Amino acid sequence: MKRDVRWAALLLVVAYLSVSATTAWQIWSAREHSLAEIDTQNLNLAQALNTYTEGVITQSAMLLLGIVERLEEEGTEPRHLQRLQRLIARQEHLLNQLNGIAIYDDAGNRVMSSIGPAPAHGSGADRAFFAHHRDNPSSEPFIGPAIQSRSTGDWVITVSRRFDGKDKRFAGVVVVSLGIKDFLELFGKIDVGTQGAIGLSTTVGQMLVRYPYREQDMGRDFSKSPNFQRFYSGAVSGTAAFKSGIDGMQRLYAYRKNDRYPVITTVALGKEEALSRWRREALLTTGVVGALLLGITAIGWHLLIDIRRRTRAEASLVAAREDLMAVNQKLEALAAQDQLTGLANRRCFDETLNVECRRAAREGTSLSLLLIDVDHFKSFNDTYGHVEGDACLQAVSKCLVQYAKRPGDLVARYGGEELAIILPNTALSGAQVVAEVVRERIEALAIRHGASAFGHVTVSVGAACMAGAYGEGSERQLIEAADRMLYQAKASGRNRVEA
Ligand code: GH3
Ligand code: MG
Ligand code: MG
Repeated sequence: MKRDVRWAALLLVVAYLSVSATTAWQIWSAREHSLAEIDTQNLNLAQALNTYTEGVITQSAMLLLGIVERLEEEGTEPRHLQRLQRLIARQEHLLNQLNGIAIYDDAGNRVMSSIGPAPAHGSGADRAFFAHHRDNPSSEPFIGPAIQSRSTGDWVITVSRRFDGKDKRFAGVVVVSLGIKDFLELFGKIDVGTQGAIGLSTTVGQMLVRYPYREQDMGRDFSKSPNFQRFYSGAVSGTAAFKSGIDGMQRLYAYRKNDRYPVITTVALGKEEALSRWRREALLTTGVVGALLLGITAIGWHLLIDIRRRTRAEASLVAAREDLMAVNQKLEALAAQDQLTGLANRRCFDETLNVECRRAAREGTSLSLLLIDVDHFKSFNDTYGHVEGDACLQAVSKCLVQYAKRPGDLVARYGGEELAIILPNTALSGAQVVAEVVRERIEALAIRHGASAFGHVTVSVGAACMAGAYGEGSERQLIEAADRMLYQAKASGRNRVEA
């Protein structure tokens, strides 16, 4: 029963653990799934924005190519520049993002600007694009870091090309500046949540545009940042989760490097925000499963208590039954026993005699019976009192038991001071021997009996034996025979055996 409790407890624990483990695994895999989905979406978005940026830069590069072609063919005389300015004015509206176009001579002086007449102080000698083209013979377009326009004050991205003079030497730079507000407008239309960010930077780690816009982020160089070095320097595209060096926010990043130009587009979602739906669902699942487990615990607890209660009840029932059986056995023994002498009582004597008679008949054996009566017992009682009489009966009984102790022998109190011995499988001669021994021994007890002619307690014994077929009333005949012999013994002077 204790084992039942143990098994039930084990079952509960196993159910508990498996439900918990399954739930935990399910929540964990849902999180992984969410993260993978977010990465894919971010990568797709970065790819789309990369294509957009490439288009804008390509358009700028083509515009530059046309202007460079003319400058190299026609030179930079004022009349040519004026013609160029008119041409540019007609082309400007074709590129939405265009902030302005400017031409610088080989000393960095601005010799033309699409925004208006070139101011006297308009020098570009200190700009990165100027230094790049002056020192680099390549005619490829150059994308410079974000700068603040000297003529409009707007933050712009520059795309530039150099042009050479007739002598094939550096003659100046043509620059297209792209306003970042157009990029910001586009990025702003994309839903990246309240914690998301979209950025455009050069492959050497200079920030060009970042949404959400913050003045202090502009022109930032993060080429030395560990995040940039760890995540952006490798493949064409990728994803990573890290804490932003700009605002400290934990984000899920996806980036795409452009195939033609040295720019990188980055899309990022706030990790907290991106996982909020997953978190809500995980909380709900945890709540439901928690409630379920509580239910299991409550039911299991009741079950265990119930099993224990039943176990105890059964144990006490078993104990009660055992007690009852013991009492019954005792009662049975008591019912078969005479209280005073401890011998078998009359009821037991009758039953045993019946059984032994039938057995004797069945097995063809002989059965003897001795009837023993204390001589002059009435006067013993009268002389010494009933208490002494009882003690005398007990002593006589004890003596009988001592000398009739073959397994089947039964010594019983037949009634009053009359005792009997059933001797199964015993012939009359054998019974006579037992009777004589018993008589002698009782006499030898030498219990004083002043009122008896013998001077002490003696007994008379009547012995009878039955052999052969058993019939109805055989027991009675046996008892009567023994009784007759007893009577004869009494009549013949007592303290003797008659068979
Ligand atoms: P006898 O057998 O020699 O002919 O004489 P008796 O005196 O024994 O005669 P009887 O059988 O008539 O008397 C039996 C007496 O035994 C009667 C009764 O007072 C006494 N007696 C019977 N049962 C008990 C008992 O349990 N205790 C005591 N103390 N006496 C008993
Ligand atoms: Mg007597
Ligand atoms: Mg008698």
